[in-house]
Amino acid sequence: MNLKTPIIEVEGIGESHSRLLEKLGICTIEDFLWYLPRRWDDFSNILLINQIRPGEKVSIKAKVARITNRRVKGTLNLTEAIVADESGLLKVVWFNQPFLTKNIHVDDEIFLSGVVEFSYGSIQMTSPTYEKVSFDDNETIHTGRIVPVYPETAGITSKWIRSKIQPLMKYMYSIKDYLPESVKSEENLIDLPAAIRQMHFPENESQLEKANERMNFDEMFLLQTAVLNSKKQLKTEKAIATPINDELIKSFVQNLGFDLTVAQRKSAWDILQDCAKDSPMNRLLQGDVGSGKTVVAAIALLNTAISGSQAALLCPTEILAKQHYVKVAEMMKLFEIECAILTGATRKEERDIILARLKEGEIKIIIGTHALLEKNVEFWRLGLAIVDEQHRFGVEQRGALRKESISSGTIPHFLAMTATPIPRTLSLTVYGDLDISIIYELPPGRQKIVTRIVPEEKRLDAYVFIKKEINRGGQVYVVCTLVEQKIQEDELVSEDLEQETLSDIQKKIIIHPISKTESSENERKSVLDEYGRLSRKVFPDVVVDYIHGQMKTSEKELAMSKFVNGTTKVLVCSSIIEVGLDVPSATIIIVEDAERFGLAQLHQFRGRVGRGLKQSYCLLFSSSKSDTAKKRLEALVFTDNGFKLADTDLEIRGPGDFIGGRQHGLPDIKMKNMMDIELIKRCREAAKRFVAGYEVADYPLLVKNIDKYMGVLTLE
Ligand code: ADP
Ligand code: MG
Repeated sequence: MNLKTPIIEVEGIGESHSRLLEKLGICTIEDFLWYLPRRWDDFSNILLINQIRPGEKVSIKAKVARITNRRVKGTLNLTEAIVADESGLLKVVWFNQPFLTKNIHVDDEIFLSGVVEFSYGSIQMTSPTYEKVSFDDNETIHTGRIVPVYPETAGITSKWIRSKIQPLMKYMYSIKDYLPESVKSEENLIDLPAAIRQMHFPENESQLEKANERMNFDEMFLLQTAVLNSKKQLKTEKAIATPINDELIKSFVQNLGFDLTVAQRKSAWDILQDCAKDSPMNRLLQGDVGSGKTVVAAIALLNTAISGSQAALLCPTEILAKQHYVKVAEMMKLFEIECAILTGATRKEERDIILARLKEGEIKIIIGTHALLEKNVEFWRLGLAIVDEQHRFGVEQRGALRKESISSGTIPHFLAMTATPIPRTLSLTVYGDLDISIIYELPPGRQKIVTRIVPEEKRLDAYVFIKKEINRGGQVYVVCTLVEQKIQEDELVSEDLEQETLSDIQKKIIIHPISKTESSENERKSVLDEYGRLSRKVFPDVVVDYIHGQMKTSEKELAMSKFVNGTTKVLVCSSIIEVGLDVPSATIIIVEDAERFGLAQLHQFRGRVGRGLKQSYCLLFSSSKSDTAKKRLEALVFTDNGFKLADTDLEIRGPGDFIGGRQHGLPDIKMKNMMDIELIKRCREAAKRFVAGYEVADYPLLVKNIDKYMGVLTLE
């Protein structure tokens, strides 16, 4: 027998148990040894009966003086025992375990572990774990020690697991330690086999602590090594070094009609400096809604294009691509740089021309949707690739934009942009291979958007107010959660985004799994119903229109352009309106069933207004009676800072919603460790030293163990 021996060949594990174990992913002895406890009960302190107190978890060692079964109330079987040690007597009871009297006999010496209770004027132990004191082996496994408690499944108890794992401990020493010796000694960590052994059957509290330290370190160290090593690998790849064209950028900025904020300048500088190197940039530009990320991107696009290379800007939706294209093309006119747009809606003839000219290097700036990612989109000399609203894309998709240039064999510098704040723990782990620039301020003079939670009885007043605003030239968005009854936009967005994968962590942050109980399906407002109601009954004399992800591209475009040019006054829309739209004369946004959205997403909606000079408003309707829902919406009223809102969401809803359990996509990483900033820092430092000093590939065992983390890295 060895580590690879199937579990069924282990003595005492039969067919049915091995099938249950298989369900837990345990097939071999090695798998079984890796099945670690979920927690531990400390029964190591063996007390005398006269020392125990109610409410405590204790272990005693005593002799059985009496043990009997009896039936109470017809159905309940009660096993009662009196046990004694040198200090006194104690009553013990168990429920519905009549077989106990077959196992435990008068005069047996047993360990009992459990909670002491106060009952009818005296103390007793109820349903304690027991273990007989045997003479040939004075090491107990269920009592009188720190006892492992395993994640249990139907048909398998911790007690059973303990008894079956204990005889396998001798195989532990064949487990190979994947951690390099240098790391172990620098970090003062115990060996892997010893750690696993102590996890199962800790000798004492401090050994258990050492074991836990080692296991937690491993998790985070492996992730960090994966992240930092991929960063190191990327540095060995070649990109085109694009010199910074000072003169040109100055004249571009002077033509903007506004001054860049300090944070915009700093971010642009970070990016330009990265692009000036011949190793690929891998940077994230983070900035609240309306902080002006587009201009920063445009500076980088321009600098790349003017140097003779090409640049690509990837957008999650057709609408956004169009908007960016119009803006960027306008900005580039002055410099005679050729721009093009490529989306799923681009007609074949036009598309063929664009593809050919990209390949020849004539088109310098290309803006588009997922259509850009296709294999047949080839570049003569791609210097820079930018992804806007990067949380909308999956890992593979972002990777697909890293196209090799035909002329130079280089990969592009890479920039991702997002308005979603990333908790620090994530920026140091999953996003740990990225350099980050933050636009931490909004352009000056932005007015605060007045945000109100509107009670249902004030709905009519709100409409009167809106009517006045429209008469003064304002435009209004009305956001609904449903497209039509029973069809939720989220399901449809994916169509709009072609091959969108929603697996991304940040996606989770934005679209929270909203509890289904908050307002029932048929009470919720839908785009089509609201459109009907508002156009016919509420605002019969103004132009009301609608847009949602299920419409054809041409229909969406028409609806959008009618809103942009001011024809449409009220646009009823689904959540597709969330990303990046910029219509300055829109001054009011209404969100129906607001409690259904995450705070970060509501904040994004709010960012659709307040883009011009006029005072803007965000009105939230919610039929939810829940306190949590109210608290969350109130946070939106009082805070206009997206970063703070993300924290608030984290506080109110707990981390589970942020990166719930296994949903964060990282194999085997405990939530607790993902939130442990000290552990993260320690492991990051250790991994940094190791990756800098050694070649990871020289440690095949380590490589094997970090492989599973590679798939989750953000931009590879
Ligand atoms: P986001 O970061 O949300 O993508 P945008 O790039 O769409 O923001 O910018 C929002 C608006 O602010 C745009 O109309 C843009 O022209 C304007 N803007 C950007 N930077 C500044 C600035 N420094 N001063 C004034 N307006 C600015
Ligand atoms: Mg934007």
